[in-house]
Order: sequence, then structure tokens, then C-alpha cells
Amino acid sequence: MRKPIIAGNWKMNMTPSECAKLIGELRPLVGHAACDVVVCPPFTGLAAAKAALAGSTIRLGAQNVHWAEKGAYTGEVSAAMLKELGVEFAIVGHSERRQYFGETDEGVNKRARAALAADITPIVCVGESLDQREAGETEARVGAQAKAAFKDMSAQEAVRVVVAYEPVWAIGTGRTATSEQAEETIAFIRAIVRELYGEAVAQAIRIQYGGSMNPKNAAELMAMPDIDGGLIGGASLKAADFLQVVHYSAEGTK
Ligand code: PEP
Repeated sequence: MRKPIIAGNWKMNMTPSECAKLIGELRPLVGHAACDVVVCPPFTGLAAAKAALAGSTIRLGAQNVHWAEKGAYTGEVSAAMLKELGVEFAIVGHSERRQYFGETDEGVNKRARAALAADITPIVCVGESLDQREAGETEARVGAQAKAAFKDMSAQEAVRVVVAYEPVWAIGTGRTATSEQAEETIAFIRAIVRELYGEAVAQAIRIQYGGSMNPKNAAELMAMPDIDGGLIGGASLKAADFLQVVHYSAEGTK
């Protein structure tokens, strides 16, 4: 059984007080949702978010994590630092990190493994660009990213990972993958996991869709057999929109 997971990626939005305010709006309405609900504020909002979440079932995620325990890595944040703030999830390999900050498949793997070692669940993002999709290279690109992300990971570790399939052309563009396109690639990622770790891990691992998911398209996406939730950008910044996505997802245990 896979419990759906809906995570809000707030990106570089929300000051600490704004984080607390949005959580204040969300928490009474999320209640005891049947899916996992995660919010990922910027690093500077994590402490305020944690305080605002006290007693709530909504869980806290970060938007990245570094692989080293500590040291001369200006601007980076370690898994232990996040853990002490109450962080349970960390997005790694988001396409904006890959595109604007030069993050590589190798670094994404190191970040994911560092998160796991600290008992933080990595949400590993993979996805093709529009050029790659149009050139028929979606599976080659997504397959390579997924295999690289799982490098040197045991089955016990891999099953704890959440994968987010996010076609780059659908992020922040208002252009959503059709539910068939999303299902096809997510089923392909599950097949890669099967190839690497066998059937039990493939059946247990959770794979989200991300890319302009919103209240209008969430129900259709969530109805697909392999889609286990969503990574939500824009629509996670408005409590009412995020809650509607959570509501559709709560019905979808697979
Ligand atoms: C994201 O940033 O992970 C994302 C899916 O953004 P949006 O929902 O805005 O497309």
C-alpha cells in the first residue's frame, strides 16, 4: 500500500512570519488527511514553520540539503542542521537547482544519501526538458537521472526515497503534462526501480508528479495507478488551492 504524499515547494517565497501565517491557514483545514502532507519553506522559514506546525499532522521539509557533515561549503546547509530544526523531508535535484545552480546527477545522489543517513526522506526530482521530450529522449533522460540518484543506495534506503517526476516544461508554466504522459513516465520510473531493486521496492516506493498541478487537474492525475501524490509549487502558496489538491489526494491510497 502506498500512502499518497503531497508536498508544497514554496521556493524563494515567504518570510518567516509569512510562513507561520500560511501554516496557520492550512492546519485547521488539513486536519487528519489520509495522505502525507508536507510543506517546504525556504531555509530561513523552517524554524518559524516548525513552531507554527506544533501539534499538526503537516510535516516539515527543506528545499535542499548538502552531502557533507560540516565544513567549508559557504551557503550550504547540512542534514544535521535540518534534523535539529525538525525537518523530515528534503527536496533534492529540483530542476531549478540543476538549471540555475549547476547541480549534477552525482551531487543529487550524494545529497539524497546524506539525507537518508540523517533519517530525512529525500524527495528526488527528475524530469526532461521540452527539447528532450520533443526529441523522444524522455525515457533516456529520466532513466539516467533516476539510476544516478539511486547509485550506491541499498534497497532498504531506496524504499524510503520519494521520487518526483517533474517535466521541466511543466514547472511554473501552467502547462501540465496530461495524466497519460505523467502516468507513462512514472510507470517507467517504477520499472527502473524494479530493475534495480525488485518488485517489492517498486511496489512500495512513492512517485509523485510535479508541474503546474492544481485544483483543476489534481483529481485526474491522482486517479492514475502509478501517481502517488504531487510536488506543488505555485498552487502551494495559496491555502485554498493547496487544500483542494490535498483533498483529492487523500482519496487515492494505492
Ligand atoms: C515545482 O517547483 O516543483 C513545481 C511543480 O512548481 P509548479 O507547481 O509551480 O509548476
